[in-house]
Amino acid sequence: MTMNCPQCGVIMVWINGSISHDPPIKYYVCRSCNVNVTKQQDDSYEIEEIKS
Ligand SMILES: [Zn+2]
Repeated sequence: MTMNCPQCGVIMVWINGSISHDPPIKYYVCRSCNVNVTKQQDDSYEIEEIKS
């Protein structure tokens, strides 16, 4: 599933899945905000800044 960034609304890069592989916990990266987003099965999510 694609997911829009909670902070800026851009479609994030989904790094651990695809159309045919849909894991329960999904990891995304927003290249605009430079954050990692972890989305849980209950649709809650955590945002973590990527340290450069
Ligand atoms: Zn963003």
